[in-house]
Amino acid sequence: MSVTSESCVQNFDPWLSHPVRIAGITREIPGVCTLNLQFEDSRLASTWSFRPGQFTMLYVPGAGEAAISISGDPGVSSVITQTIRDAGNVTRSITGLGEGAVIGLRGPFGSCWPVEMCRGRDVVLIAGGIGLAPLRPVILQLLRQRDQDQELTLIVGAREPSLLLYPDQYDAWRRQGLNVIQTVDRADDSWTGGIGVVTAVLDRIGLRNAAETVVMTCGPEVMMTYAIKTALSRGIPRELLFLSMERNMNCAVALCGHCQFGPHFLCREGPVFSYRHLRPLMRIDDL
Ligand SMILES: Cc1cc2nc3c(=O)[nH]c(=O)nc-3n(C[C@H](O)[C@H](O)[C@H](O)COP(=O)(O)OP(=O)(O)OC[C@H]3O[C@@H](n4cnc5c(N)ncnc54)[C@H](O)[C@@H]3O)c2cc1C
Repeated sequence: MSVTSESCVQNFDPWLSHPVRIAGITREIPGVCTLNLQFEDSRLASTWSFRPGQFTMLYVPGAGEAAISISGDPGVSSVITQTIRDAGNVTRSITGLGEGAVIGLRGPFGSCWPVEMCRGRDVVLIAGGIGLAPLRPVILQLLRQRDQDQELTLIVGAREPSLLLYPDQYDAWRRQGLNVIQTVDRADDSWTGGIGVVTAVLDRIGLRNAAETVVMTCGPEVMMTYAIKTALSRGIPRELLFLSMERNMNCAVALCGHCQFGPHFLCREGPVFSYRHLRPLMRIDDL
């Protein structure tokens, strides 16, 4: 049985790393940049596609590979957008590259956010830090397919205002109908948003029909655990709760076992899971 709501069938050679050129770089916040990548092979450029929630393996010769979520618009196939935090050897090598550099890309891999399930339902997205990156394709797709009477809310948190990802995009999303609520742990003098954790926001926002509201969350695991507890306490059913899990990942094809989470390989059955399926495992410490 699928552990997510929507299947994302693979139909390509998962081992083949394709050359992609860095066509654009946006420095987002300290240590984080967004790359626009273009396939060198024009045939691939016109056929490649992904679903929100999926990731690729980016390869830098001499440094290695890293799993990176796709953060761009699923409606735009000519460019692959990925947001990368400089965390170690591979990611530092990638973020240190300039426009025109060529790296390798395998994928897309993994499961997807339940975008189809959102039709006719209100949606709350909860992101912490760089966890907003894998949710951005959902935001872009939901805004495109939104019904007039559908409520879409994004609760996004960061340690401080300067660490809120995609700072120049919130106003545009608001204009398109997304209710964006920003919250930080520590404010500065210019801050006009909320202060406190994302779960406190979730606890007090108005929900028109909790039993028919879809929640998707991505960020530090402890944040997601509390977000889910709060969502359940608000009456949102566990079938409508989804989260994206992260573990150190190596092969992306369910062979190496690095990303095993109980009986699941996060690279194949995840990273997006329905909470209904993950619930028994999330109670086990340090799994
Ligand atoms: C499905 C998936 C999607 C991801 N999406 C993104 C993304 O969009 N943007 C982004 O910047 N990063 C993302 N990551 C995390 C990214 O893969 C790791 O930060 C990267 O592999 C680190 O590689 P490195 O060689 O740069 O650092 P390393 O030197 O390998 O690691 C640096 C430190 O981070 C730890 N680490 C490595 N991978 C993980 C992990 N997955 N979870 C927790 N700790 C880890 C290592 O143990 C080490 O302590 C994602 C990971 C997964 C599994």
